[in-house]
Amino acid sequence: MCVPGCHAAIHSQLNRRGLFKAGAAMVAAGTVGTAASRAEARGIRVFNRVVDLTQTLTPEFPTYIPDWALGVEQLTTFEANGFNTRRYSMVEHCGTHIDAPIHFAATGNTVDEIPLDDLVVPLVVVDVRAQAADNADYQLSPDDLAAWEAKHGEIPEGACIAMNSGWAGKAPGDGFANRDDDGVMHFPGFHVEAADMLMSDRAAMGIASDTLSLDHGSSSTFDTHYAWLPSGRWGIECIAGLDAVPARGATMVVGVPKIAGGTGGNSRIMALV
Ligand SMILES: [Zn+2]
Repeated sequence: MCVPGCHAAIHSQLNRRGLFKAGAAMVAAGTVGTAASRAEARGIRVFNRVVDLTQTLTPEFPTYIPDWALGVEQLTTFEANGFNTRRYSMVEHCGTHIDAPIHFAATGNTVDEIPLDDLVVPLVVVDVRAQAADNADYQLSPDDLAAWEAKHGEIPEGACIAMNSGWAGKAPGDGFANRDDDGVMHFPGFHVEAADMLMSDRAAMGIASDTLSLDHGSSSTFDTHYAWLPSGRWGIECIAGLDAVPARGATMVVGVPKIAGGTGGNSRIMALV
């Protein structure tokens, strides 16, 4: 399948280039609309820009377990060997990454088994920055989802619902994990009741958190992980860039590693807006 929008994008490019040559006649004849309006009339989603939803990963980037950070080793150098090569090592759940269903379930898809069709989805962004500013342990609730729907309409089927808590901008500083003196982390996450609503009433495909976990940081029971992933759905942690995308209307593309048996993996995630 073509990534949603690609036909339209190619069409749009061709149209922009061709407009100078052929467009004048069409305009004169009153037959030209925008490429977007024509594509939309044919049921094709279009996009004008690509937004990066990925944190840049460095060895300093915070991880859920402190010693899970990225390791980098220089294997060859241009000066000594004529070419540069590095080897990196990291836990699967490092930086912006996907949680595959198998991560919190006895059985389920590993990262290489997630169908590609399930990784190109409508993006819904729920803004809880105000709530999280007052309460670092904030949990995105069914009320937040209802408030989003009152403003933007019903959450589309098969969507990824992303939490914008304002946390992405805290990385890679200590405020991202926000550990207290006892080592307990304090950052927002999804309440399990919101996850339940998205599964049972909205047929959602994924949830994405701009913090280190789908659950809030002080959780020790991981209720949302245990409700969400065993249902066959995926999650994203440490998503970024949500300030630059609309609450509704973007298409999310999740590029995951195709490593056999993976429980997740560092991912390049983008939004087509
Ligand atoms: Zn994870």
